[in-house]
Amino acid sequence: MIKRTVLVLLIIATLVLSSCVDSKVGTYTAYSVAMDTQAAITVYGNNKASAEECARLFEQLDKLLSVTAENSSVAKLNKRGYVEASDELSYIISQANRIKEETNGAFNVCVYPLVKLWGFTTGEHRVPTDDEIKAAALKVASSSVWVENGNAVLSEGALVDFGAIAKGYASEKMAHILKENGVGAAVISLGGNIRTVGKKPDGTDWRIGINSPNGNGIIGTLSLGEAAVVTSGSYLRCFEENGTLYHHIIDPQSGYPAANGLVSVTVVADDATLADGLSTAFFVMGMDKAVNCAQKLGVEAVFVTETTITVTQGLKKSFTPDKSIEGVYKTIYLD
Ligand code: AMP
Ligand code: MG
Repeated sequence: MIKRTVLVLLIIATLVLSSCVDSKVGTYTAYSVAMDTQAAITVYGNNKASAEECARLFEQLDKLLSVTAENSSVAKLNKRGYVEASDELSYIISQANRIKEETNGAFNVCVYPLVKLWGFTTGEHRVPTDDEIKAAALKVASSSVWVENGNAVLSEGALVDFGAIAKGYASEKMAHILKENGVGAAVISLGGNIRTVGKKPDGTDWRIGINSPNGNGIIGTLSLGEAAVVTSGSYLRCFEENGTLYHHIIDPQSGYPAANGLVSVTVVADDATLADGLSTAFFVMGMDKAVNCAQKLGVEAVFVTETTITVTQGLKKSFTPDKSIEGVYKTIYLD
């Protein structure tokens, strides 16, 4: 706990020092730390106040959506089975249920009993017994969340975790605020969630790197206009026991971390909430089903395994593999 506090203080100190106006290129970056992530909101032009508004919003949304903070709306919902639904919570629940349906339940915010069982979110990782996993998976299968008479409501014994969609929602909301405030160009970066706004003032595309799952640099770059680019990866939160790696993206049906050869999935879509939900879902679905789903929903994706990078048709011209991956990954472009 002390270590964590010191780390957060160090990050904040660094960020305060580095929050500054870059007069040469006319950008300003505001930072905040929430949702276990460092947010960086970079705006072009004289838009410092808007960037700071977004940074504060990130902290406010964390207070609403955090599954671990005792007084968040989501914590209250999990404790009591209902909570007054703000517009934000109602919208997130409707989007979560929509994505669950579109992905045949691969995405399921009611997965929290399983996430908890494996120790993700609490940090007390352990490999549960098969019986424990079966029981929790059964519970998840019969769980649901909905909005009724202004309240968010859970089915008997259900528990929700919006961790797979919250950052996407936050970045989408920030993008709308920036646009409303007349910001013409910005990049919102919330960990693996990138949301660009407008075009760069010089008219060129944004260049967004996809991180290497091994932690060494990037595997490639996407050149894009306004878009949401969200990555889910097994390497982002995991633990090892007896030589096996267990990660945080759970297949709600089996109750185990998804195991289909994927190590990361990046989704490119117009809407960041959808992109965030789908990157998690595609990781669970595996590449073949995910490619079909992406086509159906009109989104694009980059799928990474230990040896391959598969790029969907609409990103053919946007994706450039990094030189460093030559001989390590084979890049496959889908027709
Ligand atoms: P992301 O990094 O967006 O892929 O979200 C992963 C987080 O979402 C995990 O740390 C869990 O809290 C939660 N989660 C894990 N599996 C699922 C799933 N199948 N559907 C929805 N949320 C999940
Ligand atoms: Mg996600």
